[in-house]
Amino acid sequence: MNHIDFNNKKVLIRVDFNVPLDEQKNITDDTRMRAAMPTINHVLENGGTVILMSHLGRPQKKLKEDGSINVEQFTLKHLVAHLTDLLGVEVQFCEDTIGEKAQAKVGALDKGQVLLLENTRFHKGESKGDEALAKGMADLADIYINDAFGTAHRAHASTTVVAQYFDKDHKSFGFLLAAELENANKVLNNPERPLVSIVGGAKVSDKILLLEKMIDFVDVLIVGGGMAYTFVKSQGGKIGTSICEDDKMELAQKLLKKAASKGVQLLLPEDTLIADKFDNDANRNVTLTSEIPDDWMGLDIGPKTIEKFAKTISESKTILWNGPMGVFEMENFATGTKSIAEAVAAATANGAFSLIGGGDSVAAIKQMGLSDKVSYVSTGGGAMLELLEGKELPGVKAMKE
Ligand code: AMP
Repeated sequence: MNHIDFNNKKVLIRVDFNVPLDEQKNITDDTRMRAAMPTINHVLENGGTVILMSHLGRPQKKLKEDGSINVEQFTLKHLVAHLTDLLGVEVQFCEDTIGEKAQAKVGALDKGQVLLLENTRFHKGESKGDEALAKGMADLADIYINDAFGTAHRAHASTTVVAQYFDKDHKSFGFLLAAELENANKVLNNPERPLVSIVGGAKVSDKILLLEKMIDFVDVLIVGGGMAYTFVKSQGGKIGTSICEDDKMELAQKLLKKAASKGVQLLLPEDTLIADKFDNDANRNVTLTSEIPDDWMGLDIGPKTIEKFAKTISESKTILWNGPMGVFEMENFATGTKSIAEAVAAATANGAFSLIGGGDSVAAIKQMGLSDKVSYVSTGGGAMLELLEGKELPGVKAMKE
């Protein structure tokens, strides 16, 4: 972005404004909007005109009974007032994303003005990567900037296909997307060692590729959360009614063997905080993870495990965290996740680089107020996961072609 001349240019910026809204259509978390501000402001400060496009929700999956789009629910118009406040510039709105209306509105824009286009997903062709739709978007501008990291793993019209209509001097990543790539690269390319990866969350099946990739290059792999019970059961442990994927036990065995053969330490929770039902107010107890009574379930890591995981984290130089250690949404089972968040923050204060790589660990670190005590908190769950799995994101590839 720093090498592009934006003066008197119309600049189409794909942002990720897929923010949560309440019933009254108030924005309940504007993190994603704020994250795009540096890019938008840079274009404005350098004499450009800004045309913003984004998706919001899944309007094609929630059509009205007559098969039409529920405009009232999914329109980006809900964001105009807040965007105007954030930018300090009156934001104009266009009820379509492409076509005559959009052309006319863009044509009437002056330098320094900002136009927000309607939800890209109102067009069926968006998620299909439709070329005509992408061309319609490209026709609106001289320059294309992609700052929507959260959807960079999708080959959609507005995130990927549109880029083919701009040459290399007229397209670029925005600052947010560049920062996400840079931080992922700090972990993936020549990280300072020891490198520890903490993987948690509900299921092994959601993170198979991540676990495999981690074993290829980390020094220590910590597995916590619901997925740990599949590993423990695969070793012959008794896990009661804890969440488990029986069809992934073989895979768990394979991963354990692979870690051993590569000299990677794979740490599982030794002890577990168990509950007699899936409820914050359930009766609780602590047992070995391999000796959970029949009618009880593990909902968080136990105190010995917390101590061991925290010690390992404190000895690390690079830390990657994806997925909570327990059912942190329930206060009584949030201690494990909270303690790990604190350990990551303490290691960061001691000079380690820490990346919170998307999904529920991002929610957890925010909930605990520790976002600014770690090195980087990713804004894109699925996109960061794919990057860490070693995939090239279509939205990133399209910039190089
Ligand atoms: P993920 O989206 O894969 O990172 O999974 C996050 C979800 O895993 C959260 O909603 C947690 O409540 C859930 N989770 C973590 N540990 C457990 C557990 N021991 N039993 C059931 N669910 C869990």
